[in-house]
Amino acid sequence: MKKIFTSITFSLACLSITAQNQVEVTPKRKCATVQSNVPQQAAFEQWMQSALLKDNQFANSRKVSVVYTIPVIFHIIHSGTVVPARNISQAQVNSQVTILNNDYRHLSTDFSTYVTQSSFTTAAADIQVNFCAANVDPNGNVMVEPGIERVNVATKGWSALPYATPYIESTVKPGTIWDPTKYYNVWILEFGGADASTLGYAQFPTVPSGTAPVTDMVGQGGSASTDGVVIGYKYIGNVGTVSAPYNKGRTLVHETGHWLGLLHIWGDDGTSCSGTDYVTDTPNQAGENYTCPSTAGAVVTDACSASTPGVNYQNFMDYSDDKCMVMFTAGQKARMQAVMANCTRRLSLNTSTVCSGNGINNVGIAEQGLDVEINVYPNPAKGELNVKIDLLNAQDFTISVINPLGQTVKEIKQNQSNGGTVKIDLSDKTSGIYFVTIKCKSGSFSKKIILQ
Ligand SMILES: [Zn+2]
Repeated sequence: MKKIFTSITFSLACLSITAQNQVEVTPKRKCATVQSNVPQQAAFEQWMQSALLKDNQFANSRKVSVVYTIPVIFHIIHSGTVVPARNISQAQVNSQVTILNNDYRHLSTDFSTYVTQSSFTTAAADIQVNFCAANVDPNGNVMVEPGIERVNVATKGWSALPYATPYIESTVKPGTIWDPTKYYNVWILEFGGADASTLGYAQFPTVPSGTAPVTDMVGQGGSASTDGVVIGYKYIGNVGTVSAPYNKGRTLVHETGHWLGLLHIWGDDGTSCSGTDYVTDTPNQAGENYTCPSTAGAVVTDACSASTPGVNYQNFMDYSDDKCMVMFTAGQKARMQAVMANCTRRLSLNTSTVCSGNGINNVGIAEQGLDVEINVYPNPAKGELNVKIDLLNAQDFTISVINPLGQTVKEIKQNQSNGGTVKIDLSDKTSGIYFVTIKCKSGSFSKKIILQ
C-alpha cells in the first residue's frame, strides 16, 4: 500500500485491553513498536526511497541477490525458581530459530494453507535472510547453549518481574546487550504494568550519518545500547510456555520485520485509507486484522480494498493470529535488503563471526583452497545431496550437515582419500536451511544449502 498524502499522523493505534486482576486472559495482539516522530520518519523514508531507486537502476544488469545471515542472542530474563516458566527451555528457543529461517526464506508449510489469492502468491518473497544461534559469547568463549544467555534479575539487583517498557529501556537492555554490530539482540521476559498486554516491540534501523540525501540520521532508529527486539515469554517459538493463538513464533517474525525497516501493513492510520507502509505491492488496508477467517485462505475485503483479492491479512506485518500470518512481499523484501546492505548495526552483522565454531561461518564461505576443491549440488536440494571433493593429497576428511541451531544432523567420515563424489541422503530431514561443512587437513570449508 503506497499512496501520496499530505498529512501524516505517525501515532500507533494500538488496541489494548485493561489488565484483569488475578485473571489470565488471552490478549489481543498488541505490538508496541512505535514509529518515529514525523520529521525522523520522513527523513528515513527519503533515504529508503533513494536506496531502493539505486537498487532498481541496477536490477536488470549488475544487481546480484545477497543472502544474509544474522547471528541471534536471546537474553532470557528470569527470576530463578520462583516462576521457572519465564526461564524458557533451549528447545523453545531453538523452535523459534527454525521458524525465523522458514518464514524469512519463504519455506513455511502454512503458506499454501492460508494463501489462496493468486496475486498474493505472486507477490510473496524469499527475503534471503537466514538466522543462526550465536555460538561464541563476547569474551570469545564457546557457549554451552548456543544463542542463549540466561539472566537472573536477583543476581543483577533489578526490580522484580514483570517489567514495563521504561524499565526495559533504561535498565534491562543496557545492562545485558551484547555488541549490536555482531549480534541481533532479542530479550525474552514477562511484560507488566502498562505493557501487560504487549506481545513484543522492536527498535527501527538507523541510517549511517552522511548518507545522501539524509545528512544526519545518527540515532534515528534509537541508541546502540537498546538495539534489538523484546518478546513476551509466552510468544516465543512453538513449544514450551507458548500460548495460543500466538503459538507459532510469528511475533518475533513480525518484530524482526520492524527491526529491518518495515511498518505495519495498514499504515498506522487508524481505519482510514490515507496511511501507508511505503510498499507498493501490499494492498491498501483500513485497519489491522485480528484472528483468522473461519475458512483457510478466504478473501477478506474492507473499505480500502473492497474487491478480490482484498486485504493481505496473511502478511507478517498485520495483527492476525500466528497460524494465518505467513508471508512477506517482494516490496517488503526490497526494504529489508536495503537495510541489511546499508544501515548502522545491520550491515556489520553480515561479517560477524559469532556463529562460527558450530560449523556455521558467516564470513567468506570458502569453497576452494589451494589444494582442495569442493562442490555441493544441487542447491536447493531435494532428498539427496552430492558433495564433490577433490583433494590434491590423500587425507582424512569429515563431511557434516549442520542445522542453524548448530546441531549435526548427518556426518560422514573418510580415511586417506583424495575425495570423489559423496552422496548424502537427507530425505528424512525437514526442509529448511542447512550448512555442509567439510573438515580436512587443509582447513574447514562451509556451504549453505536449502533443503526443499
Ligand atoms: Zn508491529
